[in-house]
Amino acid sequence: MTARVLDGRAVAKEVFDQIAKAVSDLVSRGGSRPRLATVLVGDDPASAAYVALKQRNAGNVGIESEDHRLPSTTTTEELLALVERLNRDELVSAILIQQPAPKQIDMHRVVFAIDPVKDVDGFHPINAGLVALGLPGGVEPCTPAGIVLLLERSGIRIEGANAVVVGRSNLVGKPTALLLLKRNATVTLCHTRTQDLGGHTRGADILVAAAGHAGLIGQQMVKPGSAVVDVSTNWVGGRQIGDLGPGVDAVAGWLTPNPGGVGPMTRAMLIKNTYEAEVRRRG
Ligand code: NAP
Repeated sequence: MTARVLDGRAVAKEVFDQIAKAVSDLVSRGGSRPRLATVLVGDDPASAAYVALKQRNAGNVGIESEDHRLPSTTTTEELLALVERLNRDELVSAILIQQPAPKQIDMHRVVFAIDPVKDVDGFHPINAGLVALGLPGGVEPCTPAGIVLLLERSGIRIEGANAVVVGRSNLVGKPTALLLLKRNATVTLCHTRTQDLGGHTRGADILVAAAGHAGLIGQQMVKPGSAVVDVSTNWVGGRQIGDLGPGVDAVAGWLTPNPGGVGPMTRAMLIKNTYEAEVRRRG
């Protein structure tokens, strides 16, 4: 078997096109143009490149953006002051703090300080709590929401599927498990203390690999015909690879390319969340 492609670039383009139309409709009805404030602390080139890409994606669908750069020596208090200012700024629909931030920053305090309505990442406890409880009104975090939408738009049946998520971070693994559960998958969440990882993954109709560990998921750990989502971005020899070992494509029924799978979906959901933040705050 050669796996079919879970084409993140193609599905992301569909989302970008939908949001471009929605923004245009919003503005033509007299609404304000959504505006994304990005905050980058420090000068990590990879983070700067991600922020630039997000701003380009925003611009392409008619969403404005503003770019806030702070030095790597910024304190938590200084970053909090900027967040407070952006919370109050009537022009700003959504706030993105690019992570990872330098070690001296207490990101919990910063995330708690973001107005939940402007929390484009869905990291604020109010949004995370609403999503965890399965209640409406919460902001679904971008990468997990992107993974689920990619599966749905590709025609993968989530309801009733055995879904295994490898990785339990608050950013990716845990919310992905919750969103799959909400869609009635039977979900197993694996981590470094999981015994017999392969015993779990071999039973997965949907396998989401988000461990950040190159080569972790070998061919023999994958159920034939399953849908495999390779989230991780490991840099090996200057090249981005995920968590999958060689030959998984010969066993899986569906597979995300890496790059070109989850990354574009994450950015598409960020743009969707920005648009929705503007709509939500205007009631
Ligand atoms: P993280 O905070 O480092 O979490 C990694 C998780 O994987 C942890 O829960 C860890 O378990 C688990 N894990 C690590 N090694 C494992 C192993 N050998 N066996 C089983 N579980 C293992 O990372 P993250 O923020 O969730 O991100 C995961 C990956 O996705 C990274 O490569 C990141 O760059 C990538 N990512 C990609 C996108 C995208 O848009 N494509 C977005 C976000 C993240 P413990 O909890 O037990 O330590």
